[in-house]
Amino acid sequence: MKKRIAVYPGSFDPVTYGHLDIIQRGLEVFDELVIAVARNSEKKGLFSIPERIEMLKRLIDDKRARVETFDGLLVDFVLSHGSRVILRGLRAVSDFEYEFMLAQTNRAMHDEVETMFMMTSVPYVYLSSTVVKEIATLGGMVDTFVPPAVQDALKKKLSQT
Ligand code: ADP
Repeated sequence: MKKRIAVYPGSFDPVTYGHLDIIQRGLEVFDELVIAVARNSEKKGLFSIPERIEMLKRLIDDKRARVETFDGLLVDFVLSHGSRVILRGLRAVSDFEYEFMLAQTNRAMHDEVETMFMMTSVPYVYLSSTVVKEIATLGGMVDTFVPPAVQDALKKKLSQT
């Protein structure tokens, strides 16, 4: 049978428990998951792309998941990986407008590529990489939001800036 491969794109700056939850649940539904770190994101990152990839790789312990980067059109990346599914997470209603626009735009380019959404797990509903960076910058604890390796990386990075 054909493998069901999904692409989970994002900035992952840095990866949080919210992302890891979607990855874990995505692997329950799909045979393989490609975690695609966006290079051309308009957001200026705290971590470099190689640093984000390294953290993801360290934290994902499943042979069916792999981490890559992309900088062209997401739909082209998806098709070139033998996939037809973009996996995204939804937190609050505030995510909806943006995600709706993205999904419609991607469909307009390639209607064979489907965007699928997974609702966040309740503990992570207000969790974002942005919130984590803000709290860490202000010296707050982020242990409920990110794994220890990411906490350490944040400490190190913020002490350099
Ligand atoms: P982007 O810049 O593409 O939004 P992010 O790294 O912020 O990249 O998020 C990647 C994906 O993960 C998005 O679909 C986002 O909605 C989802 N996501 C982020 N945090 C959570 C969370 N706490 N719960 C569920 N999904 C999340």
